[in-house]
Amino acid sequence: MSDVVLFYPKVESKAGLLPAGLLMIAGPLIEKGFKVKLIDQRFEDDWKIKLEKELEKGPLLVGFTVMTGKQILEALAVSRIVKEKSQAKVVWGGVHASLLPEQTLKNKNIDMVVIGEGERTFLELARALKNKEDISEIKGIGCKIEDKILLSERDGFIDLNDLSILPYHLLEDIEYYVSKKSKVTGKDAREMALFTSRGCPHRCGFCYNMKFNRRRWRAMDAERVIKEMEFLRNNFKINAFNIQDDEFFVDAARVERICKLIKEKEWKIEIYSAARVNQTADLMSKDLLGDLVALGFLGIVFGVETGSQKILELINKDITYEQVIKTIDRFKEIGMMSKYCFMAGFPNETMEDFYRTTDFIYKMKERDTSVRIPPIRIFTPYPGIPLWDLCVEKGFKPPRSLEEWASFDFDTVKMPWVTKKLTKRVKNVNIMLSYLKLDPEFSSSFKYKLSLLFGRWIDFRWRNHWFNNFFEKYLIKIFS
Ligand code: SF4
Repeated sequence: MSDVVLFYPKVESKAGLLPAGLLMIAGPLIEKGFKVKLIDQRFEDDWKIKLEKELEKGPLLVGFTVMTGKQILEALAVSRIVKEKSQAKVVWGGVHASLLPEQTLKNKNIDMVVIGEGERTFLELARALKNKEDISEIKGIGCKIEDKILLSERDGFIDLNDLSILPYHLLEDIEYYVSKKSKVTGKDAREMALFTSRGCPHRCGFCYNMKFNRRRWRAMDAERVIKEMEFLRNNFKINAFNIQDDEFFVDAARVERICKLIKEKEWKIEIYSAARVNQTADLMSKDLLGDLVALGFLGIVFGVETGSQKILELINKDITYEQVIKTIDRFKEIGMMSKYCFMAGFPNETMEDFYRTTDFIYKMKERDTSVRIPPIRIFTPYPGIPLWDLCVEKGFKPPRSLEEWASFDFDTVKMPWVTKKLTKRVKNVNIMLSYLKLDPEFSSSFKYKLSLLFGRWIDFRWRNHWFNNFFEKYLIKIFS
């Protein structure tokens, strides 16, 4: 019998993979003797049979981690099953429930919410439920007592070095979470997600971090990081690590130490992560960047977000365009892939601002044709982000219930200030991106030569901001 059931609800895409938040909560519970069962609805087709079997045994609680959007619908449906078939408490955690605990608790099928970092809170909650103690004193939860919603914050964060290796044995099959191709080279690899720190000290206006992590960055020591990597290598033959931290590079000395330890182990591995251009341009030495390449860092992803200085200031990105250009040059020199992400449709953004973004992308590609630019995304606000009030002022009507948040699909919901004209241009720009400044040396195949020719036309269109009436996309469809 399990004391605690942890449930990862289905999402449309299976990407994102490892249910790391649930594994992190499970670790301390297992250490203190609780029996834990983890069910991942994305991969386990017989999830309902398994859940009902667990519910028959009378667990203390069923914990869900839920993201904003469609995943809420799945989590609500399963929460209903738990309430109908058992006495177990339904506890929601994760970013959405943490940022909107009161609204979440208004749903009759949810008993409690764990706010923020869950390890200590979940353990205390399970203990109290087991001993039939009063839960109202537990810090970091939201609960309903006599129809009243009570919320309590928890001060401080845990020391990540105290966490034991994640209990990977709870996963039905580790292979669900192992990607078999290198993200950069496309060659065979065994890649898994790795978490080495939490939070971020920066203050981007579109990011959940300011509220959720209160600008506090916490990290595992280099030794602890290596221990987790070693475990994954030895037990599951993992040779590529996709670091999923919000901010891996905050402490350059820690990164240096991780590099040194990997070098001592003589591992042949691949690593990918995200970074900020202020770090790679100014804070990290050339030697350290060179070391990263030698040790298997194949690619780094950056957020630039906009080419407009006005919008860059609005979103408090705290980077400069000089830092972006310097990073491109440095990465070209050391031979590491770099990818730069952009958004469009921020409040107060005009079409001119959007053209500044496309102009800057052009400048980047001129500098180095190998820089990668993924499709530009249209901005949608996340609950509680710093830009929230401005969005509401500009006419955004926030969803008023959990059910309404469930239909808040980041790809289709549009803000009132986002015009059809902008949406169409972004769509066209995203198709054109694949032909912009192609590397003439890349391939001599006929198809590629044709793409190069077409690229010249795209170049002309791009420079003249001629992103509308993109009839050529039908030709692309026919040819491809
Ligand atoms: S977007 Fe990145 S850099 Fe900005 S606050 Fe969020 S995690 Fe930090």
